[in-house]
Order: sequence, then structure tokens, then C-alpha cells
Amino acid sequence: MNNHVTVLEIDGNALEHNLHYFKQKLKPETKILAVVKAFGYGSDGVKVADFLKDKVDYFAVAYASEGIALREANINTPILVLHPQIPTLADIVTYKLEPNLYCFKVFDAFLKLADEESLIDYPIHLKFNTGLNRLGFKHADISKILACLKETNHIKVQSLFSHLAASEDLNERDFTTNQIANFTYVAQEFYKNLSYEPILHVLNTSGVVNYSDAQFNMVRIGIGLYGFGNDAKETSQLKNTHNLTSIISQIHSIEPGETVGYNRAFIATETVKSATIPVGHADGISRRLGNKKGFVLINNQKAPIIGNVCMDMIMVDVTKIECKEGDNVIIFNNQEMIKNIAMLSETIVYETLTAISPRVKKILTK
Ligand SMILES: *Cc1c(COP(=O)(O)O)cnc(C)c1O
Repeated sequence: MNNHVTVLEIDGNALEHNLHYFKQKLKPETKILAVVKAFGYGSDGVKVADFLKDKVDYFAVAYASEGIALREANINTPILVLHPQIPTLADIVTYKLEPNLYCFKVFDAFLKLADEESLIDYPIHLKFNTGLNRLGFKHADISKILACLKETNHIKVQSLFSHLAASEDLNERDFTTNQIANFTYVAQEFYKNLSYEPILHVLNTSGVVNYSDAQFNMVRIGIGLYGFGNDAKETSQLKNTHNLTSIISQIHSIEPGETVGYNRAFIATETVKSATIPVGHADGISRRLGNKKGFVLINNQKAPIIGNVCMDMIMVDVTKIECKEGDNVIIFNNQEMIKNIAMLSETIVYETLTAISPRVKKILTK
């Protein structure tokens, strides 16, 4: 039971709004896979999936353990494990998760297991590398895969997919179009040679925005579900899902010449009122936000972080803000604040969100 006062509120209405926003960009028959890896992009994958389970066709997680957590919460929607590890394949079967088999090493290991367990038509997914060069089979592997599939009834190809390297970047349009063409070739080869038609999917969030013609039978939506599109205009159509708040633990009056925090990084030149907040770099607040780069909101006013960000706390300047110990603190509650934090932390929104640690209490509101 997490009773921490620093709380990430996941806005269920916003999740639903964002899902609907992408749905209306797609053909009615296109399936939706919601990506809930990395604790639902730093929130709570189980809570997000439980909320979305009747609204989407599929979930994806990166690793088996994340899928097991969903099953243990009685979520019965199909779950694609994007990056299964060989030692976890048995658990994948036990928990009825669906592995992405992306190379012969994993393919063969799974086939061996499927044989030992006498599985019939166990749903597996095949990923093709079309240019990201991260995971996936290549064209030259197709005939060998097809030959293996002809000889077994232990597994069945539930889907064929690939992942785009630069779907958000229109300067890379040629490269992306080529990836899609490359994937289309793979799909045709399988459709020609199998007696059934696996689901096809290649688009992530920014793919849906920029290349909706390539939606095939399903799309995989991650960051968009959590409120971020490709640009400010798109993002303004989406609702923020991650709201991080805390409370003031203690207020100090700092006299001129006194310092605040580790390494005495903040030196008062006049009397300063500081507030200590129970959130630090171990909770996902980058140290780059220290020394007045980042701020929080207290009673609707900006309170800059003074001194260095500690592991478990930050100190903020509240000299000009009327406030008391126990008052609420907003670390972020809209996309602009999250984007600003990402920029000041010299990273992207994906990292700012997924940095929010499990120590932070998570609640989902509807
Ligand atoms: C993480 C991931 C996604 C989701 O991407 P977004 O840009 O967050 O929509 C989709 N597909 C794969 C293979 C991924 O790893």
C-alpha cells in the first residue's frame, strides 16, 4: 500500500478522450493496441489497462513481467510482449501472453517450448526490421520462417508488424515510406503463403498522425494516449493524463549569507522563505531542474527550485507566495509544464514521464 503524499493522478477521462481522438482518425474497423509498457509511461500500467480493457483490442508491454502484472489484475485482453526474453518464455505461456518472435533464436526457443507443452495454434507475433535496426527478422528470413510454420501446428501467426524509425519527422518521409513499402512486401509474402491472414500493424502515435494510409489492420498508440501529439497543435487537441502533486513539508526563513541544500548551491543574499517538498531525483525530478531552472506551482504562483535537487526532496523559493506547511504543490498538471520540464531536463517527454518512479503514489480518477 503506497501512502506517499507525492501523488501522480492519472486522468481516466483524459485517457478516454485521447483514445477517441485517435479512433476518429482511423477507419472504423482498424483495431487499437494501447501501449502500457514502462508502467503505462510512468503512471501505472495496471490501472491504465484496467480502465481501457473494454475500449481497446490489444495491449502491448515490453517485458513479460509487465504482462504478468496485468494478468494478475484479471485483465484478459490479448497482450503482446514486445521484447520477450528466452528465460521468460515459459511464464509467457503460463500467463497467456503473446510473444513477439523477432529472430530465430527466440523463434526456435518458443517452438521447442510449444512442442514440449503440446500447444495448439498458440498466438505469436512476428516482427520485421524495416530500418530501425533494433529488433526484427529481415526479408531473407521469410522463406525459412514459412517453412517452419508449415511444419507445425503449435503456433499461429497472430500478427506481423514492424516499427518506424522516424514517423514524427516529415524530413524523413522518404525513409518512412520505404519502411512501409518494405513491410507491405513482407505482409504480401505471408498472405500468399499462409492459409490465414495475420493482423498487420506498423504505426505508432506519430505514424497515425502522419501516415494514416498505412494503418493496415491495427495501430499501436503509446504517447498519444498520454496526451502528446507530434506538435503543439496536435497536443492541444489531446488532454493531459499525468498530474503530479505533493505538499509542503516544511518552511524555513533563510537569512542573508545562509545556504540551502547540498553543496550549499543556493546562497541567500536577502531573507528568503523556502519550502521543502517531498519529491526528488529518485522520484523522477531531474537534477538539471535545480538552481532555479525548474519551478513548481504553489497557490497558482511559480516557486523556483533553489539549490540542488536532492534524492527525496526539493527546496523552492516561496518568499513572495502566501503559503503554509501542508499546502498543495503542483509539479505538473498540463502538457506545457511537462514539455518545459523535458526541455529543461535536456530530454524528451517520453523520458520525463517514464522517469516518474514507482515510489510515487498513483491514483486513477474517472
Ligand atoms: C513504444 C512502442 C510503441 C508506442 O510508440 P508511441 O510513439 O509512444 O506511440 C509502438 N510500437 C512499439 C514497437 C514500441 O516499442
